[in-house]
Amino acid sequence: PDAMPMSKTLFERARKVMPGGNTRTTVFVDPFPIYASKGEGCKVWDVDGNVYYDCINNFTSMIHGYTQPDVAAAVVDQLPFGTAFGAPTVSEIELAELLVERLPSVDQIRFANSGTEGVMMAIKAARAFTGRPKIVKIEGAYHGSYDFAEVSLDSSPADWGDLPNSTPYARGTPRGVLDDVIAVPFNDIEALRAVFAAQGDRIAGVLIDPMPNRAGLIPARQEYLQAMVEIAHAAGALVIFDEVISFRLGWSGAQGLWDIKPDLTALGKIIGGGFPVGAVGGRAEIMAVFDPTRGKPALPHGGTFTANPVTMRAGLAAMRALTRESFAHLDRLGAYLRKGVAASLGKHGLPGQCVGLGSLFKVHFTSHPVTDYRSVYPGQAERRKLDAFHKGLLGRGVLSASYGLFALSTPMTEADANKILQAIDETLSDIARQF
Ligand code: PMP
Repeated sequence: PDAMPMSKTLFERARKVMPGGNTRTTVFVDPFPIYASKGEGCKVWDVDGNVYYDCINNFTSMIHGYTQPDVAAAVVDQLPFGTAFGAPTVSEIELAELLVERLPSVDQIRFANSGTEGVMMAIKAARAFTGRPKIVKIEGAYHGSYDFAEVSLDSSPADWGDLPNSTPYARGTPRGVLDDVIAVPFNDIEALRAVFAAQGDRIAGVLIDPMPNRAGLIPARQEYLQAMVEIAHAAGALVIFDEVISFRLGWSGAQGLWDIKPDLTALGKIIGGGFPVGAVGGRAEIMAVFDPTRGKPALPHGGTFTANPVTMRAGLAAMRALTRESFAHLDRLGAYLRKGVAASLGKHGLPGQCVGLGSLFKVHFTSHPVTDYRSVYPGQAERRKLDAFHKGLLGRGVLSASYGLFALSTPMTEADANKILQAIDETLSDIARQF
């Protein structure tokens, strides 16, 4: 905190006009967050002039880091022509074409302004298409802030039975919302089968992030996803993949790596090139619920800034720059860092593990097997270690998420990775001495 006087002052100013000085819970850090002033490549600077390797990249969205030349040029080129119209533009067709080409499960796509909206439109499309009310979701998995997607996001041990209950995340969540969401344990085929056996004809769809970040960043098992598709389809329900984060795992996202074709896919983050974005895509037959050409659609959907040409052009440039070589580079960097972090934990005798895939990894300060939400629910000691880890890294010039998530970017080199590993090693050494 001593090296961040300007951030501290700004936070005090913010407190007067924003609750807790905050407009985004995820970026709050106790006692105050650093205020960013600029980004370039894989680094960010705060208002006090401190520089950091950015290992969170606006919560996984800035896959090229900052000021990627093609993305910057696309935005600058659009500005003199206007930024948002009450009419479609050619840019949305181009980005839709690119995404449809990369995702074999997606015939058609609709844009939105956030991942939250992408997930919301996917859930609503599943309901409109099937005429059923219920959604199945994984306990502890985060999908943005649509009420139905938030159920059982943060259940506490007091609520844990053998099987997850539908628990509210936000105070004030209506009972009806809880009634229409069934939470299930992750990677558990039998539990899914049981839920469908009991309520299959009321279920519109299963919502799953193939590598749910808040539920541990553990990949779904391929057999689990395969069984999910079979079980859901046998009951006339749909499978919705939330690839808002996991689309950064490969050319065709996680569904490409796992070779699964969901019925609907929610997207966001990287597809906007650093601008607000979300999307839902899927089979044409399902996406027809949005079609207004034959009168009022089953599912009307608007959005004043939806598919604005700045977001669309930035997204198109970012996605074009994301080549197969980019993914190979990110995979190599990620594997190198995961191995380095695990070695460092071992060297300092700390119970812990480094999980993830591709450009994403997460540190858990626990030695028991990490399998699902419950297994990563942090006790007090782990919470204190995570906090010390986050702050220790910040003090050594590495920005990560306060809950231990890291997301890499294409401009990062192996030399950068070594500097990051050194900061991680020093921080873990401190933690081993402290706890
Ligand atoms: N789904 C997942 C898996 C996410 O991680 C997020 C955001 N972190 C969302 C949906 C919501 O996206 P947004 O913040 O753009 O609304």
